[in-house]
Amino acid sequence: MLVVKKFGGTSVANKERIYNVAKRCIEEYKKGNQVVVVLSAMGDTTDELLEKAFEINPRASKRELDMLLTTGEQVSVALMAMAINGMGVPAVSLNAFQVMMYSTSAYGNSRFKRVDTDRIRHELESGKIVIVTGFQAVNKYDDYTTLGRGGSDTTAVALASVLHADKCEIYTDVDGVYTADPRVVKNARKLNEVTYDEMLELASHGAKVLHNRSVEMAKKYGVPLVVRSSLNDHEGTIVKEVAKMEKMLITGVAGEKDVVRVSVIGIDDKPGIAFKIFNTLAKNKINVDIILQSIGRDGTKDISFTVAQGDLTGTLEVLGANKEALTIQEVKYKTDVAKISIVGAGMMSNPGVAARMFEALYNSGININMISTSEIRITVLIAENEMDRALNAVHEEFRLGME
Ligand code: ADP
Ligand code: ASP
Ligand code: MG
Repeated sequence: MLVVKKFGGTSVANKERIYNVAKRCIEEYKKGNQVVVVLSAMGDTTDELLEKAFEINPRASKRELDMLLTTGEQVSVALMAMAINGMGVPAVSLNAFQVMMYSTSAYGNSRFKRVDTDRIRHELESGKIVIVTGFQAVNKYDDYTTLGRGGSDTTAVALASVLHADKCEIYTDVDGVYTADPRVVKNARKLNEVTYDEMLELASHGAKVLHNRSVEMAKKYGVPLVVRSSLNDHEGTIVKEVAKMEKMLITGVAGEKDVVRVSVIGIDDKPGIAFKIFNTLAKNKINVDIILQSIGRDGTKDISFTVAQGDLTGTLEVLGANKEALTIQEVKYKTDVAKISIVGAGMMSNPGVAARMFEALYNSGININMISTSEIRITVLIAENEMDRALNAVHEEFRLGME
């Protein structure tokens, strides 16, 4: 059997944790399995490296940022190989160059294009545990790229897919995927199973327990994922195509603070303007989420939309540079907003779910700024300082804490 095991930052944060992971990997190896281990940077290393970069140059290029950030994962894999070797088991650490994990050229948020297996297979066949850097890849210029924050999960799924692994386990600092972030909602309950589609909606809307691209890729290539704790042996959560239907209408709730609302005011109320605005943003690789258009009056209208915090400067620059062409009179933005989402396949066949969510927020005195929906998700934009309270209220309304 070939097993891919991924351990996140907290799971390798210090010497004891590294030994703990080393032991778990050796246990798997001693069962006669081939073991590929994917690691994140230790503890808060990635954040610390970003801070250092900011101190040196707040406008550092994305290329140099990736050059810096990829060092974090390289430290973890080398130390892990040393730990496993020290326990008498052969192991080798490899980075993205050595494995040959190729990505698109975009720094900071690249996607895998091709992942070679020769080197890993060769090392596995010579009896070693193979330890691979998460989060990083190499682009066509032979530069390092990173896959976006939390991207080590995606490295694990990519490797599980190309190696046709029998298991892909994501070890983290909680027991699995919960109905809400257990650090925010005390009553959150661990899910035994969740579908790819529901997990993708949750991960894309703030449930950072899995990187959203990892779920997308797992669905595409049919890789079943197990999310579980690196600190105990509790059964985790299985993420797969079809999950056992729990009686719940809603599967989980998620919150996201990394969002800004941008409003373009006084644009011409005629065909083609919305197209031009969003096309201009898309061409500049700015991802827009919720969109709300006001009713036209006196030949003009307003459009509000949300973008990630990191895209705010770019959005303002692009809109400013095209102000006349896009007929914009004024651009406003608000950063102290957050999104909360409810997700569940159950809402497809049950009317009134949105009303219940809105009522729960109303009863807590929380105002809704914008709304967006998919087949299995409802998202609302609210004030940032009300996010945790909103998550608890909605979680309670749908009784997600109950078995
Ligand atoms: P790792 O370093 O192992 O990748 P992360 O910090 O990226 O770990 O993700 C795990 C964290 O995700 C948990 O500590 C938890 O606070 C958070 N989280 C958010 N939403 C959920 C959820 N629905 N279920 C479980 N954990 C969640
Ligand atoms: N170390 C990277 C990050 O902090 C990747 C990861 O943890 O998955 O975002
Ligand atoms: Mg993570």
